[in-house]
Order: sequence, then C-alpha cells, then structure tokens
Amino acid sequence: MFDYIIVGAGFVGSTLAERLASQLNKKVLIIEQRNHIGGNAYDCYDEHGVLIHQYGPHIFHTRSKEVWDYLSQFTDWRTYQHEVLGLIDGHKVPVPFNLNSLHQLFPSSLANRLEEKLIGHFGYNVKVPILKLREVSDSDLQYLAQYVYEKVFLNYTVKQWGVKPEELDPTVTGRVPVYISRDNRYFQDVYQGMPSHGYTKMFERMLAHPNIKVMLNTDYKELMAVDTEAQLITFMNQPFEGKLIYTGPIDYFFDYKFGKLPYRSLRFQFEHWKDDLVQDVGTVNYNNNYNFTRMTEFKHLTGQKVDGSTTVKEFSQDYVPGQNDAYYPIKNDGNLELYKKYKRLGDSIEPVIFAGRLAEYQYFDMDAVVARALGLFNQLYGDVI
Ligand code: FAD
Repeated sequence: MFDYIIVGAGFVGSTLAERLASQLNKKVLIIEQRNHIGGNAYDCYDEHGVLIHQYGPHIFHTRSKEVWDYLSQFTDWRTYQHEVLGLIDGHKVPVPFNLNSLHQLFPSSLANRLEEKLIGHFGYNVKVPILKLREVSDSDLQYLAQYVYEKVFLNYTVKQWGVKPEELDPTVTGRVPVYISRDNRYFQDVYQGMPSHGYTKMFERMLAHPNIKVMLNTDYKELMAVDTEAQLITFMNQPFEGKLIYTGPIDYFFDYKFGKLPYRSLRFQFEHWKDDLVQDVGTVNYNNNYNFTRMTEFKHLTGQKVDGSTTVKEFSQDYVPGQNDAYYPIKNDGNLELYKKYKRLGDSIEPVIFAGRLAEYQYFDMDAVVARALGLFNQLYGDVI
C-alpha cells in the first residue's frame, strides 16, 4: 500500500513526504503521535483568538535561497525581523550585546571610549567573541568582556541548562559575542519572516498531496515493529517492503538499550493580557532576574490584529521521558559517545533512515532541518528526478 512510512510530521517528515509524493509519485504514510502536524513548529489559535506557538516561539530565518524558495511554494511570508531585548541592570537593551546596548548601559564618556577601542581593534560590523576581547591587553576591553559574560550570559545559561557557573566550559562560554554594530536584529540572515497564515497552514499545504496520508495520535510502535537482526519491518503484522523514515528519538527506537540520551526540557506558561501589546519587541530575555529565561509576545511575530495579547514565559527544566518533551540535547563527550552507539546501530539497518533533531541528537534550526531533508532527498534520489 505505502512505499514509505515516515514517523513524525515535523519539518523533516513533512518535507520528505512532500518530495517523495510530488517528485517521485510515491505513496507515503506519516505516523504522528501528537494530535497535530507541524512538530515543534505547530501554531494554533488560543481561546482568545491569538495565534500562538504551542512549543515556544519559532522565528524563521535562513541564508539558504534553496530552503526559502522551497518553503515559499507553500506559504507567503510576513516581513519580520526579530529583535530581542535583555533586562540588564534595570535597562532593556539589545541582545546580542551591541553598540546600542553599550550606550544604553554606560555613561557616555566610557561608552564612547569603549566604542572607539572596539572599532579600533576589530573594525565595524563584526561579531567578536568575548574570548577574543579578553586576549586584548586593554583593561577597558577586558572589563567589557567580563561585564557581558556576567550580565548577559552567565545567569541566563545557568538557568537554561540547570548547571553551576563553575561547570560551564570556558571554550563554549567564550563564544558569546559582542556585536560591533548598531544593528539591533537578532538574526542577520538574508531571508527572514513568518509564514503569513502560520506554520500549521504551511504544513497543511505541504501535506495536501493525494499520495500522502497522515495518521495522528499514534505512536508508531502501536502499528510497527523493527527486527534489527533480521532487518525486517512489520506494519500491522505484515512484512513492510518499503522504507521507514524515522524522525523520533533514536534511543526510543532502540528501546533505550544503551541508556537514555539526556535533554533539557521546557515548561511554557502562556498568559493573556487585555492590552494591545505588553512589551516593545518580540522577545525580552530576563538574564539575571526571575526563574524564567525569556518572555515572547506573539503579536509582534505574527502581526495579528486582534484585541488583547498573549505571551509565553519559558521555564527550563530537566527532561523526563514520558512526562515532558525533549528540547535541547545536552552535548558532552559522554552523551555524544552514547549517541554514536545508537547511530552505529541505526546505520546498520538498511531499510530505516534516521533524520531530524531527535533522530540525530542535534539542535537544528528550522532552515537547517529543511536543508537536511532536501539534501537527503537529493542524495537518495537526485539521479532519478
Ligand atoms: P520535530 O519538529 O520535533 O518533529 C518530530 C515529530 O516526530 C514530532 O511531531 C513528534 O511528535 C513525532 N514523534 C516522535 N516520536 C514519535 C513516535 N514514537 N511515534 C510517532 N511520532 C513521533 N528553529 C528556528 O529556526 N527558529 C526558531 O525560532 C526556533 N525556535 C525554537 C524554540 C524552541 C523552544 C525549540 C525547542 C526549538 C526551536 N527551533 C527553532 C528549532 C525547531 O523547533 C526545530 O528545528 C524543528 O522542530 C525540527 O524539526 P524535526 O522534524 O526534526 O523535529
């Protein structure tokens, strides 16, 4: 009946399903455990009629014309350039830290001196990691590096990852940039925007091909079994001769046989306000205050005209399989080694392709994951189409 079964209706699953159906006329079944398509990019209207992102704010940005053109077949775009403010010493200043942040936080004599030294040492319109700032034997720039590290990075990261400051790897923490620019945008990518009618509508169009069937509310293990030794897939107790594309957690696929891959999870707290807008920009980071990391106001992102406004606060928490969702892989040598064990096993199962953030234990932005799916498709079938 089906040439392909795809587990997961997120970006990877939906892109591959669309390509296989429209370019190769293959019959595809998507099995999705949630009650909706779109994966973590899913959006919907809340009880007040505000378009919200159920799994945290998703802003689309890419440098890839191929990815932008591909998705543009299924959506128009609202022009949107994301800006983030961080609450630092009582002031809401642009993040990543830039020359505007500098002038908002420091007395003008000091700010001017720092600006002159930054441009003198590194030039204009460049992102300089604080590790590089620290290497300069200038006490002003070393002071700035320490200030940005402490006020912008340290407490935010401790909250986000639930670690102690001394556990932070200095080579990673040193990558925090100071942006020597007046550009307040969070991303500098050529293509930036929000799907005009939301992500879910875009996914609906991607999956509208008659060759694609979607089964929601179903864990694939309810219908399928994979015998890794015999390289045999069964679907509804019958041998399945086609290919399985798996975009769920790789450790779950193998029944956690080597152990669970650790992740960080999030709790989202949505709040509705009578006001038209409650903050100046899409996202405000609370770097040093409160126990949530950031608050996002959806109407900034979507441009929706509706009475009242809805925001979401993000609280970082440990991931517990079965109780909450896996969001950010915790990358360290031990965990990567564990992932590689699963990957080696996955690579040995010829009829199964593992792709996406959960199957590859990797944080991907949306554009990266679409590029991954398009690349995979070209690699497998580029010579056929
Ligand atoms: P997913 O979207 O997770 O899709 C996988 C699907 O598989 C899910 O729907 C899941 O339910 C399903 N599944 C899993 N197991 C099973 C099973 N056993 N049976 C059936 N179905 C199963 N990227 C950006 O570019 N910009 C942003 O602003 C941005 N913001 C983000 C904010 C947050 C809080 C997070 C966590 C991520 C953000 N991302 C952002 C990244 C983005 O969410 C990912 O790139 C994208 O979701 C990855 O798509 P995917 O298809 O790999 O995975």
